[in-house]
Amino acid sequence: MNAINSLQSFANYGTMARKRCDMPPIGLQVKLLEMSEHPLALLYAAYRQCYAAGWAGDTALADTGGDERKAAFIREMMRSGHESPLEHVKFTFAIAGVSRALTHQLVRHRIASYSQQSQRYVDLTNFDYIIPPSITGDPALLREFEQCMAAIQRGYRELIVRFQAKGVVGAAAHEDARFVLPQAAETKIVVSMNCRELLHFFNQRCCQRAQWEIRALAETMLAICREKLLPVFERGGARCEGLGYCPEGKFGCGRYPLKEEVLGAEGDGV
Ligand SMILES: Cc1cc2nc3c(=O)[nH]c(=O)nc-3n(C[C@H](O)[C@H](O)[C@H](O)COP(=O)(O)OP(=O)(O)OC[C@H]3O[C@@H](n4cnc5c(N)ncnc54)[C@H](O)[C@@H]3O)c2cc1C
Repeated sequence: MNAINSLQSFANYGTMARKRCDMPPIGLQVKLLEMSEHPLALLYAAYRQCYAAGWAGDTALADTGGDERKAAFIREMMRSGHESPLEHVKFTFAIAGVSRALTHQLVRHRIASYSQQSQRYVDLTNFDYIIPPSITGDPALLREFEQCMAAIQRGYRELIVRFQAKGVVGAAAHEDARFVLPQAAETKIVVSMNCRELLHFFNQRCCQRAQWEIRALAETMLAICREKLLPVFERGGARCEGLGYCPEGKFGCGRYPLKEEVLGAEGDGV
C-alpha cells in the first residue's frame, strides 16, 4: 500500500467554500487515497509482454532490473505512441471543496469511476458553497452572491419544513428540495482513473482554456501524479506541453506558438 498523499491549494485560484457567511473559508482538497502498488514494475511488465517471448506471469516479479532501466523503457514506449499499457496502473483520489459545476465537468470523462456525495441522502440545509475568485475580489458582487446563497438556503429549509409537515422526511424530502440547490454547492467525490485517462484529462483540463476550478483540480492531481510516477507524468499537462505548440488555434493563450506557425501548411491536417 502506498502512503497517503494530500495536497491543498488555496492561494493560486482563490477557490473558496463557505459554510454560511460566518464560517472560515475552506479550499480545494485533493488526497491520493490509493494507487497501484508497484506502478513502475507493472507498467514495465505490461510493456515487455508485448515484445518478449516469455510470459509476464513468470518474469514480472522476478525481474530485478533497476527502476532507471524500467523508466527508460517506459519513456521510450510512450514516445513511440504506445499508450494502452498505461491503463494497467490506476490512481484513486478523494476530492472535496469543489462545486457541483466542477463535478459536472469532471464526470464527462467517461474512462473513470466516480462515487459522489448524494444530495438525496445528505441533508444540505446549511450547504457549503464555492465562490469564484472573480466574485470574492469584488465587494459588490460578493454581497449579491452571498445574498443569493442565503436566499437559496432559506428556500431549501422552508421546503424541508413543508415536506415534513406532510410526513415526507429524509431522502424523500431531500431528493426534491435539492432542485433549488445552486451549481456553487460544495460537493465531495472519489475518482479513479488509469494513467492513460489521467494524461488525457490533464491534456484537456490543465489547458488555459479549461474553466479555472477544474484547472486547479487538474493541476493539483498532476502534481501528485508527478510525485508518485514521474516517468509517466513528467510531460503531462496541457497538450502544448508535450507538442511544443498550441493546437487551440484562435483560442490559444499565447504561451506557445500556434501549430500553423511551427508546422507551416503541413500542420493543417495534423
Ligand atoms: C475547454 C473545454 C470546453 C468544453 N465545452 C463544452 C461544451 O460547451 N459543451 C459540452 O457538452 N461539453 C464541453 N466540454 C466537454 C467535452 O466535450 C468532453 O465531454 C470532455 O472534455 C470529456 O472529454 P473526452 O470525451 O475526450 O474524454 P473521456 O470521456 O475522458 O474519453 C477519453 C477518450 O476516450 C475516447 N472515447 C470515450 N468514449 C468514447 C465513445 N463513446 N466513442 C468514441 N470514443 C470514445 C475518446 O477518444 C476520448 O477522447 C468542454 C471541454 C473542454 C476541455
